[in-house]
Amino acid sequence: MPSLRGRLMANQSLAELTWFRVGGPAQALFMPEDEADLADFLAHLPAEIPVAVVGLGSNLIVRDGGVPGVVIRLGRGFGEVRVEDGSRIRAGTAAPDVKVSRAAQEAAIAGLSFFRGIPGAVGGALRMNGGAYGRETKDALIEARGVDRQGRVRVFSNGDMQYSYRHCGAPDDIIFTQALFQGAPGDAVEIAAEMDKITESREATQPIKSRTGGSTFKNPPGHKAWQLIDAAGCRGLKVGEAQVSQMHCNFLINLGSASAADIETLGETVRRRVKEHSGIDLEWEIKRIGVA
Ligand SMILES: Cc1cc2nc3c(=O)[nH]c(=O)nc-3n(C[C@H](O)[C@H](O)[C@H](O)COP(=O)(O)OP(=O)(O)OC[C@H]3O[C@@H](n4cnc5c(N)ncnc54)[C@H](O)[C@@H]3O)c2cc1C
Repeated sequence: MPSLRGRLMANQSLAELTWFRVGGPAQALFMPEDEADLADFLAHLPAEIPVAVVGLGSNLIVRDGGVPGVVIRLGRGFGEVRVEDGSRIRAGTAAPDVKVSRAAQEAAIAGLSFFRGIPGAVGGALRMNGGAYGRETKDALIEARGVDRQGRVRVFSNGDMQYSYRHCGAPDDIIFTQALFQGAPGDAVEIAAEMDKITESREATQPIKSRTGGSTFKNPPGHKAWQLIDAAGCRGLKVGEAQVSQMHCNFLINLGSASAADIETLGETVRRRVKEHSGIDLEWEIKRIGVA
């Protein structure tokens, strides 16, 4: 593919691209220069080669055997955040969510400060319907842009995304490249205070300085996953160097040298114990990619 402008690298380690810091390499890692480069790459890539996309790796386990095919990671060419039409923000999907919340605060746009609480990038928020403090991505999204596996650029309205709790119904092959969010006129000082409160609350309740993947399991309807896990006696439970966080037991922690298998086995052990204790099936929120 002589027309490629981005970086294509063979056998690249992915562990440092994830919060857990575990997992094997990507058979190939592609970092496109911009959307046209991404589209061109996908259009020319043989259909049988699998493609996966990673964001900031804050909700992700890469398995120890690595990821066959191509892993895409969006970089600087997808990082722009700008204010449009007064109360709207257009953001590239490699921009960290916190950058969206800061841009909104500086422009006195209310309704986007919840992004301060999510340590991923915009692409991950679109795919996960990331949310915090009573709001989620679906409440703010006007439309998302992306590229499909054939290299065609597509635009999805909020409705097209078929959002529900931590779920997006847009086709799995879509690599999101841009999002347009709607806020409302607000007061910059009040928004800053709200963001400070979110920062404080996160520091007090989540192990944000640990190697973790955020909430491991979705909250089942009518229940809090952490309460079910606690009631099943799993707080502090360990497999190898992986541990259920003492601080927030829906978070798993890599204490230092855990493998992806340790973390996944710990998660499955928690699921089994919760099922035995309360009869409820926990569903993974964390995405797992690659081979064991
Ligand atoms: C300490 C901590 C606290 C957290 N708190 C919250 C919280 O309050 N609320 C919440 O919702 N989440 C929370 N999370 C989880 C996580 O931050 C979110 O799910 C976030 O949206 C993931 O974004 P990411 O860029 O890290 O995506 P990744 O973890 O890299 O990927 C997650 C999924 O998104 C897909 N994806 C990533 N980029 C794209 C793209 N451009 N196009 C298509 N698909 C893409 C990946 O393929 C994968 O399936 C927390 C995580 C941590 C570590």
